[in-house]
Amino acid sequence: MYFTPSTQLYHNGKFVKATEASTDLYSQTLHYGYGVFEGIRAYKTVNGVKIFKAHEHYERLLKSCALVSIPFNYSIEDLTQISYQVLERNNLKDAYIRPLVYCAPNMTLSAPTGVSFMIAAWEWGKYHGLQSLKVCVSSFQRPNPKSVKMEAKVCGHYVNSIMATNEAKKRGFDEALMLDMNGFVAEGPGANFFYEKDGVLYTPPLGSILPGITRQTVFEICREMDLPLVEKLFRPEELFEADSAFFCGTAAEVVAIESIEGQLFSKPWKQSMGAVVQEAYKCIVLDKSYSYVIV
Ligand code: PMP
Repeated sequence: MYFTPSTQLYHNGKFVKATEASTDLYSQTLHYGYGVFEGIRAYKTVNGVKIFKAHEHYERLLKSCALVSIPFNYSIEDLTQISYQVLERNNLKDAYIRPLVYCAPNMTLSAPTGVSFMIAAWEWGKYHGLQSLKVCVSSFQRPNPKSVKMEAKVCGHYVNSIMATNEAKKRGFDEALMLDMNGFVAEGPGANFFYEKDGVLYTPPLGSILPGITRQTVFEICREMDLPLVEKLFRPEELFEADSAFFCGTAAEVVAIESIEGQLFSKPWKQSMGAVVQEAYKCIVLDKSYSYVIV
């Protein structure tokens, strides 16, 4: 599903067939989760294939490496250019791009002895945004920010996300909402969270969340469209008084939340601030003007 016999990926300076690319079973990343990655989208826009916010994603990749002391010295410009080449070589338009920085064979817990890099891409259908999610409050908290670098997109952090997602699905929900170590709402396993109350959008501040690039785009949309937005800590109980809510992330885009722990939101999604943001986001990623979106 991620590749066919003709798929090419970028691996350590070369384009190679996915079927012929290989890695080492003694990688520090495989054993200890000590690696960093990104999740990026390309869209077939009105002006051709565009990678959405490539600069911001590769800036975060470099920052993630620096934060966990993985030496990595590609430039943002080169990374962006390679990504476009991966798309072109595979004739991809609407696609998901996955860069991964992983470490050399090393069974100790000391600094990496070498670093490898790959960029793979696969087709990822156009904006859907039609579903709405039944969300539960996870029993898994986000990690203590003093134990890990929360701003970094580190492979090992995703065990926490996988546990929360599995728990949610087992309980019959679509998605989990995770709290921080103090019981304040943090984020989803792979997306940031917003809710609406009395004409204002609220979202948790940085600290126990990944600084999402989509979250930042939502901030920009709100500024542009004069939608009031406040960053604050809040407890899950507050959500039962909320008018609407949504998750946002590169993969999820802007997605409606229908209910939390079975309690439905009072506002129909189509009338919510989230729906306005969703429409604007869709226009931005597709390179269309969104000035016509009526608030
Ligand atoms: N939080 C987590 C834990 C994530 O994995 C993601 C996806 N990268 C996000 C939030 C959203 O980030 P972005 O908008 O940059 O994709």
